[in-house]
Amino acid sequence: MNCPLCTRVSHTLENQYPYLIFEFENSYLYLGEHQFYRGYSVLVTKEHFREMTDLPEVKREALFKEMMKAHLALEKVFRPKKMNMCSLGNVVDHVHWHFFPRYANDPDFKNPPWLQMHLFDSAKVSPQERDELIKIIKAQLLSL
Ligand SMILES: [Zn+2]
Repeated sequence: MNCPLCTRVSHTLENQYPYLIFEFENSYLYLGEHQFYRGYSVLVTKEHFREMTDLPEVKREALFKEMMKAHLALEKVFRPKKMNMCSLGNVVDHVHWHFFPRYANDPDFKNPPWLQMHLFDSAKVSPQERDELIKIIKAQLLSL
């Protein structure tokens, strides 16, 4: 298995990936390993699909609802000025959606979050903060 997100999914199934926030029917929501943008999270499909158009229509529509739930929960918890959702897949071609909450005090607000990518590793989340954020986001998802 050469896909890092398929590997992550199998680690999740073995309870070996501690960034899991929530399990949906078709996807997992993970907290980002860095929190350069506070609340940064990633939604990953359980199965390996290369493109959104590769999902059977029923699953695609269900995934969209899962994306919206994730979005809403992150919005309620972090109150960003704007949510950036990105799905690229040029590096890892397994359907996944990045959620980058963007804030009013962001000095580079009008630009894509990737322009700050070189700084992401400087904002690695501590295990304690990770567990606290996961708890808050999960509680919000359960209350939707
Ligand atoms: Zn994969």
